[in-house]
Amino acid sequence: MISVIFPVYDEEDNLNRLYQRLDETVSRISDQEFEFIFVDDCSTDESPRILKELRQQDARVRIVRFARNSGSHAAIAYGLNCARGDAAVVLAADLQDPPSLIWGLLDEWQLGSRMVWGVRTKREGEGFFTLVFSKIYYFLLNWLTSVKAPPLGADVFLADRAVIDAFRNVTEKHTSVFLLLAWLGFRQSQIEYVKEKRYAGRSKWRLGQKIKLTVDSLLAFSDIPIRYMSVLGFFTALLGFVYAGYVFWSYVHGSPVEGWSSLMVAILVVGGIQMMMLGVLGEYLWRTYDESRCRPRQIVEYEIG
Ligand code: UDP
Ligand code: MG
Repeated sequence: MISVIFPVYDEEDNLNRLYQRLDETVSRISDQEFEFIFVDDCSTDESPRILKELRQQDARVRIVRFARNSGSHAAIAYGLNCARGDAAVVLAADLQDPPSLIWGLLDEWQLGSRMVWGVRTKREGEGFFTLVFSKIYYFLLNWLTSVKAPPLGADVFLADRAVIDAFRNVTEKHTSVFLLLAWLGFRQSQIEYVKEKRYAGRSKWRLGQKIKLTVDSLLAFSDIPIRYMSVLGFFTALLGFVYAGYVFWSYVHGSPVEGWSSLMVAILVVGGIQMMMLGVLGEYLWRTYDESRCRPRQIVEYEIG
């Protein structure tokens, strides 16, 4: 059996069309059974009702509803945890990743890959800021972390049962599910696709959430921010000593350096660096505290099927 997982947040205008295309896609695969897991991330529109209608038509549909909006990564993680298939495919519910991708993903999987990424070669109908933000995100990831896949952004993937079982043991919350899956290892491969325009509605990712995901991803997979604090401190201090030498040298030669502006520059620069480093420490500390409380990633309101 193959599980197909969709994180859903306010997608009332997409769900029926999505179901149609999904049904068409899987009806052409005769050698597998399917289940469709819709993880409703506490939608505020008609999505829950539409999902229940789909469930009445089709027993392959399973529904989970969260009691609070927890983000698409939590929804994907929960979907993986309750998937019953020999493999699970994750797709967005806005039809940006066409369901027909399932064919290509299954083909790669049957060739022996445990993890198959759908890598977008083109992104249609994405705004300028989304593209710029995405570029910065993947540049930072490649530069600062050692997790190399999924290269340049995969939003779609197939995970084998072995990967899903390994993933179930991970309870980390402040992280990117995609990077975590890549980090697990296993034999990985990729197929390419064109990311389509959203069928209806608009993207729900807010800027704050994107920044949080960036910081999460960097802190979870790189120790550079915390390890290089001391290096930065060392060079700042070195600069201070060099400047002190210059001040002394000027004093001996009878033209003492005059004060106010240089003093202000030094105070502001050093103060700024210290604040920034405290901020970095704070990010680590807060994450440690939050993970240690062991609150669940999500609260489930109900499950159907
Ligand atoms: N999503 C979710 N919870 C959220 C935001 C989004 O489950 O808080 C779902 C959304 O319904 C969609 C997928 O995650 O199926 C991708 O979201 P979206 O299309 O808004 O993001 P983008 O395509 O801009 O990355
Ligand atoms: Mg989308």
